[in-house]
Amino acid sequence: MKPESAESYYARVAAATDDDGRLPVVDGSAMTWDIFPFEAAGLRLKPLQPMADTEPPRRGEDPATCWCATPGAERPGTIWRNDRWVLRLVEPSSLPLTLFLEPVAHHDLTGLTSELAAELGQLVVSVSGALEALPSVGRAHVAKYGDGAAHLHMFLFGRPARVPQLRGSPLQDWSECLPPVPADVLHANAAYVAGRVAVDMGGETVAPTAGS
Ligand SMILES: [Zn+2]
Repeated sequence: MKPESAESYYARVAAATDDDGRLPVVDGSAMTWDIFPFEAAGLRLKPLQPMADTEPPRRGEDPATCWCATPGAERPGTIWRNDRWVLRLVEPSSLPLTLFLEPVAHHDLTGLTSELAAELGQLVVSVSGALEALPSVGRAHVAKYGDGAAHLHMFLFGRPARVPQLRGSPLQDWSECLPPVPADVLHANAAYVAGRVAVDMGGETVAPTAGS
């Protein structure tokens, strides 16, 4: 059997919608788990939109228009770097730490060289270990979406410790409504993680600055 086409996948989803074009909230799905942020009663999905002719364009799809086309440009929120990778603080953040990990040169995940892919693996392990060493973090979450920008940017999230409701992927929805972590707390967390990564991986730490 051949891999399924995009049209075939979409047709099956569309066939499951009601007269308004909405999919049902499935009982027993993650939407009824204790970690889902919303009460299922009264909740409904948006109507299914028509299929797009092509994938939407992303920022920096043409490397000449990407941020990396400006040599030496400091990435905002940089807290650690070496010649090939930059670790950045996302600020403000409602989580103890939200970080981007990006290659300096223009690559998407699937275009990494073997050497960069190997180093990415080591970095993800190092940053995750540093995040989980923070007292306010229970687990490091790691994600790659790549739907908005073509230049690889891995997300690393510090999931707050000992708040079981915040486990799993629904953390992203919770985080939209959690209060922001004060800048000085965020910077102290970031400096700790950057220092640990420098011990593991070499490179240099960069002090986070207000408004970064
Ligand atoms: Zn780029």
